[in-house]
Order: sequence, then structure tokens, then C-alpha cells
Amino acid sequence: MSRAHEILHHTFGYPAFRGQQEAVIEHLAAGHNAVVLMPTGGGKSLCYQIPALLRGGVGVVISPLIALMQDQVAALTQAGVAAVALNSSQTVAESQAAERGLRDGQIKLVYVAPERALTPGFQALLRELDIALFAIDEAHCVSQWGHDFRPEYIALGELADAFPHVPRVALTATADDLTRREIRERLQLNDAREFISSFDRPNIRYTIVTKATPRTQLGEFIEEHHKHADGSHDCGIVYCLSRAKVEETAAWLKAQGYRALPYHAGFSTDVRQKNQTRFVNGEGIIMVATIAFGMGIDKPDVRFVAHLDLPKSIEAYYQETGRGGRDGKPANAWMCFGMQDVVMQRRMIDESTGGDAYKRVSTQKLEALVGMSEAVSCRRVNLLAYFGESSKACGNCDNCLNPPQVRDGLIDAQKALSAAIRTGQRFGAGHLIDVLRGHETERIRQFEHQALKTFGVGAEHSTAAWRDIFRQLVSAGHLRADAEEFGALKVTDSGGEVLKGELAVPLRMVTEKKRREKAKKSVGGGVTRVSTGGNADEELLKTLKAWRLATAQEHKMPAFVVFHDGVLETIATVKPADEAALRLISGIGDAKVKRYGAQILDLVAAH
Ligand code: ADP
Ligand code: ZN
Repeated sequence: MSRAHEILHHTFGYPAFRGQQEAVIEHLAAGHNAVVLMPTGGGKSLCYQIPALLRGGVGVVISPLIALMQDQVAALTQAGVAAVALNSSQTVAESQAAERGLRDGQIKLVYVAPERALTPGFQALLRELDIALFAIDEAHCVSQWGHDFRPEYIALGELADAFPHVPRVALTATADDLTRREIRERLQLNDAREFISSFDRPNIRYTIVTKATPRTQLGEFIEEHHKHADGSHDCGIVYCLSRAKVEETAAWLKAQGYRALPYHAGFSTDVRQKNQTRFVNGEGIIMVATIAFGMGIDKPDVRFVAHLDLPKSIEAYYQETGRGGRDGKPANAWMCFGMQDVVMQRRMIDESTGGDAYKRVSTQKLEALVGMSEAVSCRRVNLLAYFGESSKACGNCDNCLNPPQVRDGLIDAQKALSAAIRTGQRFGAGHLIDVLRGHETERIRQFEHQALKTFGVGAEHSTAAWRDIFRQLVSAGHLRADAEEFGALKVTDSGGEVLKGELAVPLRMVTEKKRREKAKKSVGGGVTRVSTGGNADEELLKTLKAWRLATAQEHKMPAFVVFHDGVLETIATVKPADEAALRLISGIGDAKVKRYGAQILDLVAAH
């Protein structure tokens, strides 16, 4: 057995590596740089934790959020790995103790905030140490176009010059092309090998409904899918755009008998911290929040993420919905979407202080999400296509489960695509629509586009109808908006097949009203209320959960740091009689057997 496997078994208690973990670990352990793109819940942490343990010296992990750091340090400590965090929430004494541990060479992993990582003091400390590797977590924070941009991240590229012989790894769950390039360039990782995992989250069911009476629709969704027979309900997150709406919605849910809490940047740190802690530690809280909430929330058992408003981009949608179902069990991503959302987001872009380039990129990102929301084909296929991944219809999204009505849009699609080709693939939808509708604008005359064969061939549709068609063509991947060329629409390979008539083009036909009714009906076909399933002994499971809650409270840490739900469920199913049997359960390493083994075996025996 390799050393990496040994650490996986004994320290982390897992039987096998997942996906690309092993390849990444070998590459880093050998001293090379890497960029790791893996979906949320994919297991990025082990990708740098194990090589840090293999290489000797201390692994330096740059992580943007204090809450996340603390959970990671708690989990590592539980697994018997010496880890510390250095951040602004600590007392001087705590920081000093951590630094002493580092100097003594006892610490295997140190988590540090980006602004701290580059201070002269910390840099001087690092030069005294033997460094195993640098891990830059949530590396998409370096992207200026992204939703989590952190200026301090840009300076992290300096680590390459300061420590040229230490391997560096950047990790993220955001993987569109632009972000990927920015990560490589800004973090000086041009030579790094890229490890790309599938971004699919098969356990998440995507549903997008047309907005009519959003609050009622939300209530129906939760009641239908996430409320249990005994009146309790699942843990979930509801995202709203504005603070006022967060508060209203939380109050409304409370009035409906749900345990709901509000969270937005307008509350004091104390209130935010308190609500977040209740959400993370408690069972079955619905957090109603702006996007200020969520990054660094590592809670594995979030059963649904609902959007009452449209996010800014597919990356944001993917990341926010990705907070559901990290434990791999079924979860719902439900979004309520209306044209008002698009208008609102457009206005926010227009009124933002960003430059033209920022506005252009933001608009394209928004349009891509709108396109996906309007698509008639599998949501997952569209979502993954955006990240450059091809896949088959999933059978676990609203469009797969209740296919919307479509019409044959081949002829319209061919007209649109040939308009793009005949104008040299250098124009956006607005101009192409003028060509199709035969509008002799100044720009048309400037390029003599009135002479084209396609000029005026699409006069039968309104401008709005053509916009819909173009959006759907972009979302289906037949046209691609080029971010670097002012949004010029380019015909893709599949677009070429459409032009040759080799590929059908179904276009969504349902009217707003019909869509609403359909969406309502489709709720019934939805998920699977989440239960413990399997053959777990419910009574024993209850006992184990009560023990876990008490243990977590005693040590002031989240319950899932002690054991995940899945681990407790397995214990309640197999009822291990001795340490050896306990040791076989995935998620229980040596340190946990030592710390909790006897208590658990007693609980099982008493039962
Ligand atoms: P990410 O940072 O990519 O979102 P994490 O590193 O937090 O994901 O891992 C997600 C969950 O998967 C954690 O509970 C982790 O312990 C678990 N996990 C990671 N690797 C494995 C593995 N090889 N086998 C079983 N569980 C794993
Ligand atoms: Zn699908």
C-alpha cells in the first residue's frame, strides 16, 4: 500500500480515493504545481492535505474565510493532524501559540487568510520554516470578473518568486474558461498541470419555475419536498437579492411555522455570527439570505437551495446551488425566475461603477444564465456545457422529468446562424436581428449588410421573438458569445451541424401562463423526500445523533465535524460490535476510533 493510501485509511478513515484525488496528490508530492478544478463536495481538501503530510514540513493553506478555516482545523485536529489557523479573529496569545507551534516544527498544516499571508511578518516566519506546499483555496477569488473577487488574491502570485522551489496548488469549484485563465496568469501557474473533474453534481435536482407569486411558490415547494410527516423540516438556504426581501421572507416563513433565520450584510457581526452558528450546528434551519451568506459554509446536509431571484451568472448559480447536498444525498436546487429579474440585474450592471469591459462581460454572463433558465433541454447538460463539459440528458431535472412543449426551430436557427456567418461572425445579436428583420440602420449600411442574402429573411418574427431565439441558440451551444470580441456571436461545431440540417433545434413554445401551470404540476413529480433510507435502526440513530450533538456542544464545534450523518447512519445500520468492525466504516480514522470508539460501541451495545 502506498504512503498516500495509508494516510487516507488511517488518518481520514476512507477506503479509496475519489476521482482525480490520487493523481493530484502524486503530482504535488513530487514537487510540481497544479490547478485543481473540482466541484463542491468533490474532495479538494485531501488533494493538498495528504501531499503536505507526505512531503514533510508544513503545508500553508490560503483560505478566504475564517469560518471555513476553523471547521477545517477542527476536522483535522479530530483526525489527529496537527493544524492551526492564523486569522484576525484570534487573540494575540492564540496567534503567538500558533506561531510557536510552527517554529517548533510540530504543525503539519497552517490555514491563513490571504491578507495575512503576504504580510512581512508572516513572510519572515515562512522563511524560517520548511514548507511542504502552498495551497490556494477558492482560487477563483482572483478573478476580477467573478462574484467573489478579492483584491488580496492577486498579490498571491508573488509566492512563486518568493518560494520558487515550493510546489503550489490552486483549487476552485468555479471553472469557466475566463476564470481558469485568470487563475493561471495571476497566480503564476502557467506551467501547472490542470486537473479537471466533472462538475456534475448528480444528486442535485435542478428546477426552474416561472415567477408568478414567488413567496407562495416557495412555500409550496418547501411543503411538498422538504417538510416531514412529524412537522419537522429539512435544512435549506433561500437566496434573495435585497436585504428587505430577506427579512420579509424570513418573517413570512416563520409565520408559516418554519424555523427560518435572516442573514445579510446589514446585520451586525454578532447577529450574523449567531444566525450562522445556529444554521451550521442546529438541525433543520432555513437560512434566508443575500449572497453575503454561504461562501465557506461547509455544512454537508443542506437539503435545498432556493433562489427567489436570479443570480448574476451561471457560475454564481452553480456555486450557490452547490451548497446543497454536499454529503452526496438527494438535494433540490429550485429557482423562481421572471423577466423582472433580468431587468433588475441589467439595471444593476448599468448602474455599477465598473468600466465598459466589466459591463460587457457581466451582461454576457447574465445572458448565459437567462439562456439556461429558458432552455427546453436538460438543465444539467446546459449547466455543464457552460463549463466546457459535454453530457447526456440527466433524468434528474425539471426539463427531463416534465419535458416542456417545443416547436421545430430548425429553419429559424439556420437563418440566425447564417446571418452570423455571412456577416463574418463579428456581430452581436442586436445587429444580426436587424439583418434578419431587414432594418436598414446606419450600421447596416456602413457594412453594406443590406446586400446579404439573409437580409430581411426573418421579418415574420418580432425583435423580441428573435432575441428569444438567439438566447436559446446560445444556451444550446450552437452560438457562442466571444467575451474578447465585444460579444460577437460565433457559430460553434454543433451550430455547423444545425446549418447542415443534421441537428434538430427544439425551441421552447409555452407561454408564460402555461409555464406557470406546468411548473406547478411538475412539483408533484419532484424529489423524494429525503429520509435516512436504508436499513438504519431509527432509534439507535436518534441516540447517536443526540450523543453527537452533546459531544459537539461540549467541544464547541459543528456536529458534522464529529461525524457526518452518513457515518452515523452506517453505524446504525451495521451496528458494529467491536473496534475492528467500527474501523471498516468509511469516515472513521484511527484518531476517531481512539477518541470516540468506546463511547460508540457502548451506545450500540446498550441499544
Ligand atoms: P470540497 O472542498 O471539494 O468542497 P471537501 O474536501 O470538503 O470538498 O470534501 C467533501 C466531503 O467528501 C468531505 O466530507 C470529505 O471528508 C469527503 N471526502 C473527500 N474525499 C473522500 C474520499 N476519498 N472518500 C470518502 N469521502 C471523501
Ligand atoms: Zn436533466
